[in-house]
Amino acid sequence: MAEEVCDIACTVCGCVCDDLRATLVAGRVTAMHSNCSLQQAWFARHNIAPPADHALIRGKPAKFDDAVNAAARILREAKNPLIYGLSRSSTPGQRAAVRLADTIGAVIDTTASTCHGNSIMALQTVGESTCSLGEVRNRCDLVIYWGANPAVSHPRHMERYSLEPKGQFVPEGRAGRKLIVFDIAETPTARLADDFVRIRPSSDFEVLWALRALVAGKPLDVAEVGDVPLDKLRQLADQMKACRSGVFFFGRGLSLGRNGHAGVEALLRLTTDLNAHTRFYARRMRIYGDVAGADSVLTWQTGYPFSVNLARGYPRYNPGEYSAEALLLRGEVDACLMVGSDGLHVLDPKARERLHEIPTIALDYPGAERIADADVQFTTAIYGLHRAGTAYRMDEVPIPLRAVVPSPLPSDDEVLDAILHAWRV
Ligand code: SF4
Repeated sequence: MAEEVCDIACTVCGCVCDDLRATLVAGRVTAMHSNCSLQQAWFARHNIAPPADHALIRGKPAKFDDAVNAAARILREAKNPLIYGLSRSSTPGQRAAVRLADTIGAVIDTTASTCHGNSIMALQTVGESTCSLGEVRNRCDLVIYWGANPAVSHPRHMERYSLEPKGQFVPEGRAGRKLIVFDIAETPTARLADDFVRIRPSSDFEVLWALRALVAGKPLDVAEVGDVPLDKLRQLADQMKACRSGVFFFGRGLSLGRNGHAGVEALLRLTTDLNAHTRFYARRMRIYGDVAGADSVLTWQTGYPFSVNLARGYPRYNPGEYSAEALLLRGEVDACLMVGSDGLHVLDPKARERLHEIPTIALDYPGAERIADADVQFTTAIYGLHRAGTAYRMDEVPIPLRAVVPSPLPSDDEVLDAILHAWRV
């Protein structure tokens, strides 16, 4: 007999929508009800019967304990091991990964280093005027996406949080909000905007700095900045100052831009400037479902959010020097454990090649696209479907994940703790 389960959280992107509904038949999820294309594709890929062999050594089925011992041996023989990934995991798996890295003296890095690492460095420099997505929903009458395309990357962001919902101080919903999109091309999100501002590629910093000058009432002796006419920039600055509550949501289009963290720093400073006139926030559009959780767990365990070297018995933080991609490109790591290998596709191809030259261990969900051909492979239970846990939404609000159906697969934390135990003996 079919059973309905409500309020399930989705961990596919940083929205972590917690209003999904599932149909269960005979202890299996047969349908997940949402209007999100990303979620539906993810569910179709991962909601498969658990593989008969959930531990493999060099592609061959192995007993769980043998695979754990093989993984422990790889890490014991390595002089400079790397633990990487974590953003598709959950708080228990992330804590276990830090525990393992701390014990074996590894570098631990997350997918943030190839995504919003620049944003983190910027906010460490100048701070961040932050808010929850609930505040955006209830207060913001001006929503600005900068270098972000949520219509594709976060399909329900506008529906649930930013644009469409009726909020306490925005009772008209969409009709009570203005949407501005800054981008280098007309994206599906830009087509929904009240005002699309096309800027020249790699000119974010200049445009943001010009807006800062105009918000401060300084004269500018130019006709345009980043292909945006000065009159238009002046109108935008006035619109930002005049709103009751505004928010910038910025994405990889800004954080991975030519100016690195300086572009994000300019946006954060503009946000601070605007708070002299009205209430304004800036928030990152986090891509992976629990990358914000990975930042949080690493920060509370080591003091730093990503690219942390624990080889000396105390944490050292240095993005670039201790970032996974850079370490692999320089050939400075001699073993790698990946908690979720699906984020590897954004690494430089040469870094990915290096993964074929060193011993590797991978933990992946059923049906995951296996980027790495790992020496030791574990298929693990899915947090939020098979196991309870916590995922941090893009605004760092922790969302509880429930175990909806049982699974014979071990979880990330169980595998990592077993490897740690085997490494010690
Ligand atoms: S918007 Fe993101 S978190 Fe929400 S249902 Fe879609 S994929 Fe899942």
